Amino acid sequence: MATTTRIALAERPIGEPKDSDFRIETVDLPELEPGQALLETLYLSLDPYMRGRMSAAKSYAKPVEIGQPMVGATVSRVLASTDDAITVGDVVLGYGGWQTHSVEPTSYLRVLDPLQAPVTTALGVLGMPGFTAYAGMRNIGQPKPGEAVVVAAATGPVGSMVGQLAKLAGARAVGVAGGAQKVAMLTDEFGFDAAIDHRADDFAEQLGAATPDGIDVYFENVGGMVFDAVLPRMNLYGRIPLCGLVSGYNATALPDGPDRMGLLMGRILTSSLLVRGFIQSEFAPTQMADFLSDIGPKVADGSIRYREDIVDGFDQTIDAFRGLLTGRNVGKLIVKVTGA
Ligand code: NDP
Repeated sequence: MATTTRIALAERPIGEPKDSDFRIETVDLPELEPGQALLETLYLSLDPYMRGRMSAAKSYAKPVEIGQPMVGATVSRVLASTDDAITVGDVVLGYGGWQTHSVEPTSYLRVLDPLQAPVTTALGVLGMPGFTAYAGMRNIGQPKPGEAVVVAAATGPVGSMVGQLAKLAGARAVGVAGGAQKVAMLTDEFGFDAAIDHRADDFAEQLGAATPDGIDVYFENVGGMVFDAVLPRMNLYGRIPLCGLVSGYNATALPDGPDRMGLLMGRILTSSLLVRGFIQSEFAPTQMADFLSDIGPKVADGSIRYREDIVDGFDQTIDAFRGLLTGRNVGKLIVKVTGA
């Protein structure tokens, strides 16, 4: 019988997740039923949304139950299969979660071609995060030539794609990131027109200088003080694809200070802003094929660039996840699991 070593949720974290919020355990896997495959995880994806799955708060997806393994996208090698369409040795994109092996329905799996693109790209630039940027820009942001697009967490897989899509649309791309290394990467590697460090004391002034004609599209990834600086600069008919609020994912209470809801609502009203929250899964069934056929060749020919941060070793998973919510990662965060 096959076994898996997995990271299960032991407690619901309060604030930043601690090692003791998880339990590492080895358990037996079930025998394969028809339409299933036994997989060995090569790479597992770490994504900010996983912090939400650790919480019992109502959200768009069910929380991970206490005692169950953390969920998430994986790139795996097929060890056994009861489906003729999935062959032993295939490398597949699946949803194995934080574990070394898994049994998954073959209907969930997408066979990857390592000759087309490195298989890890299925977790980032050519996977869910890249698609998130594509869907938010295509359906909500809709940048036009000459407009100013601002995005934070801009070296990550969502933000770096947002900036590059803005440039492809003929817009001006302004990226926000944490620290000098990431800020330099925005202009040098990803082609942003301007880049700002959100940790700088004069962040709001720098944002003003980088967006002299205001902001037309703010792709919201982080919330917090970045949003506070952006809001007064939004132009008439500006669009805000509301994608994520990572600055608050570990928060245990609302921030101190006056209630600014009136300010926000007033600005939305007087500038006729479109603020539209979205989860990428709304658009994936109808637009994922377009995304792959449009962006896949651009990744292959280098006209869309990406950065991956591959951490070596399954035992690094929890700590690497902590770093994702504090900006320690540089690019799409992936764990290389033993066997890759
Ligand atoms: P990243 O790889 O960019 O990692 C998160 C980054 O957030 C960190 O590296 C850090 O970058 C930044 N960050 C953390 N805290 C703060 C803070 N207080 N202020 C400003 N920035 C901060 O993540 P992804 O590209 O995978 O995801 C980006 C956003 O998109 C997240 O909010 C995520 O939840 C959201 N998302 C939403 C989806 C949807 O369907 N709506 C789907 C996928 C992602 P830095 O060091 O530069 O500050």
